[in-house]
Amino acid sequence: MSATCPQCATPDRSVPVSHALGDTAQPLDEPLRALLSPPPEPPPAGEGLSGAAIALSVLAAVFCLLGVLSLVRNREELAGYDPAYRTGYLMGPFVLPLILLAIAAIVEVVKRNRRPRVSGAGSPEEVARRKQHLLVWQAGWLCRRCRVAYFPEESIRPGFPASPAIPPEQFPFWVMTAAERAFGPDARPVVS
Ligand SMILES: [Zn+2]
Repeated sequence: MSATCPQCATPDRSVPVSHALGDTAQPLDEPLRALLSPPPEPPPAGEGLSGAAIALSVLAAVFCLLGVLSLVRNREELAGYDPAYRTGYLMGPFVLPLILLAIAAIVEVVKRNRRPRVSGAGSPEEVARRKQHLLVWQAGWLCRRCRVAYFPEESIRPGFPASPAIPPEQFPFWVMTAAERAFGPDARPVVS
């Protein structure tokens, strides 16, 4: 398939966006490459610790550090005591951090169980939307001469009109809106 650039009206310097990205003979410059890259993967649902769990973990780390410091300071003073006392004394500073970490873990588990999973980033709707973005992205062409992207007529789906010349800065946004127009709930049925 060849496509004609809407800006210079010639096909000779046009390549599919995916080919342009993989072309090692004429590599794209970094800014252009970034703008034309495939749509990003949505972050998996349920990732990331909650603020409370992070705060508790940090607190635990601080107490743990204080415990280590006090051990270093008090080592010689313990020389005359029996082993059980020494063990208790040595372990003491680490009890609080362990309790804090346990609370942090509980907070995290409770939070994850409560979160509704229906509208998460990894939900079927999100996966379907990502697939649509990818379909549109794959239909994109680049004119190397004009440094513009475009979508030839019916390249996104049958009956879908050709796009104008798209500056690379607007390409990611264009992919999203074209996906919405072509496959979204308001998309017109295919006329064949
Ligand atoms: Zn052109």
